[in-house]
Amino acid sequence: MDWIRLTKSGKDLTGLKGRLIEVTEEELKKHNKKDDCWICIRGFVYNVSPYMEYHPGGEDELMRAAGSDGTDLFDQVHRWVNYESMLKECLVGRMAMKPAFPKDYHEEKKVLNGMLPQSQVTDTLAKEGPSSPSYDWFQTDSLVTIVIYTKQKDINLDSVIVDHRDDSFRAETVIKDYSYLVHVALSHEIQEDFSGLFYRKCQLVSKEDVTHDTKLFCLMLPPSTHLEVPVGQHVYLRLPITGTEIVKPYTPVCDSLFSEFKEPVLPNNIYIYFLIKIYPAGFFTPELDQLQIGDYVSVSNPEGNFIISQLQELEDLFLLAAGTGFTPMVKVLNYALTNIPSLRKVKLMFFNKTEDDIIWRSQLEKLAFKDKRFEVEFVLSAPTSEWSGKQGYISPALLSEFLKRRSDTSKVLICLCGPTPFTEQGMKMLHDLNFSKDEIHSFTA
Ligand code: FAD
Ligand code: NAP
Repeated sequence: MDWIRLTKSGKDLTGLKGRLIEVTEEELKKHNKKDDCWICIRGFVYNVSPYMEYHPGGEDELMRAAGSDGTDLFDQVHRWVNYESMLKECLVGRMAMKPAFPKDYHEEKKVLNGMLPQSQVTDTLAKEGPSSPSYDWFQTDSLVTIVIYTKQKDINLDSVIVDHRDDSFRAETVIKDYSYLVHVALSHEIQEDFSGLFYRKCQLVSKEDVTHDTKLFCLMLPPSTHLEVPVGQHVYLRLPITGTEIVKPYTPVCDSLFSEFKEPVLPNNIYIYFLIKIYPAGFFTPELDQLQIGDYVSVSNPEGNFIISQLQELEDLFLLAAGTGFTPMVKVLNYALTNIPSLRKVKLMFFNKTEDDIIWRSQLEKLAFKDKRFEVEFVLSAPTSEWSGKQGYISPALLSEFLKRRSDTSKVLICLCGPTPFTEQGMKMLHDLNFSKDEIHSFTA
């Protein structure tokens, strides 16, 4: 908030009195000190010196990119952050134009993000990744059909994200580690920035209390969007807060633990659900809570490194969740119980402060009653004197009692999510208990 106030104060934050300049590489390199620090992100150069003391990661972290192109570093750490809006008063100008592709472009470009014209798709790419898709289109009076030839057998609905807005059509196809983009401009020039995450505006349809501080939000995708968030992945929600676009990650859930997990009959699931805890002193969630039914919030494409094939042939699934760290477990649990025939046991250990904080407690208890493969154990850190269940924090003693393998050879997966120290301590305890890396998945940003 202090930073936003400063950007709105009218102070000259670039030292250029509002002038935008063209910056050469030589010039950029000169501005590499804390009190004179320029950084380039995606071709735009910012004077970040005034922002130093507000950077949540600290000054040293920002200085790692001083006087240079910080795009890769930025993408590694917080690709979702809307720097264009946060730093707009620090914009010095653009980098001076260089030839569009350097001579050794083909060797450098390892990941194909977006579809290059055929002439630029190199042999290196063909060898490293799946062969590039191609596309075709045809049109009748009322319909434009776009066909994307992926040459892959196992394309699911959640591998394709389609948005159609005004005169532009955009389809993103995810094949293994590659993401391919088809973008068709039907008549007007396209303004969209394809470098970051893509957002579409979704309408708030309902908001229900789940606990004293957690709510189930239902958002409706635009009618011409097809987007299914894969199991274990999250999206970013974006809202303008005092004139600046702010984003935070959230993990979509099913509308209840009892909605069967199967491919939708219609190829368009238009609703997307979130369980979100409102922190009264938080920055983002009070704004989210203020939204009225019918208001809009922007939703990004999904991200995350959970691989659904980890669940194949699984026998024992253990879920360790604290607070809203329960959210990624919802789809994992639902998917595993409906789609993994080998599954023998799913156990959830759910850590909360008090009984009132437990999300979907009665649904969890009903599910345990209905499906004998599922067990749930609640652990409270600050229970009332009436609580007869388990108490305390995540600990080696609790884990070794809870995580009983059926046999030495049974295929096991342990998923972990909660406040960062909870997840980090849990990971260490699991390694000490001799679970291998492949048997553990921790959900983080
Ligand atoms: P913040 O402003 O971040 O504050 C959070 C809490 O910290 C508040 O209690 C606040 O008072 C306190 N605080 C803030 N600043 C300080 C300070 N300087 N000193 C002391 N205390 C401070 N959350 C969900 O509810 N549901 C989800 O599905 C979900 N999915 C997520 C997925 C991922 C991959 C990640 C990384 C996080 C997810 N989260 C989820 C958490 C979410 O992204 C936000 O962090 C959360 O909603 C808090 O946002 P906020 O801006 O309201 O609060
Ligand atoms: P919370 O209510 O503050 O905590 C839940 C439980 O965990 C409480 O019992 C709490 O105990 C305990 N706990 C807190 N810190 C701990 C620690 N260091 N070691 C052991 N136990 C600890 O949780 P919340 O407010 O819902 O927050 C959930 C967190 O999960 C957020 O940080 C959110 O970002 C994260 N999250 C991440 C993802 C993801 O990465 N994919 C998804 C969803 C949520 P006490 O309160 O009594 O200390």
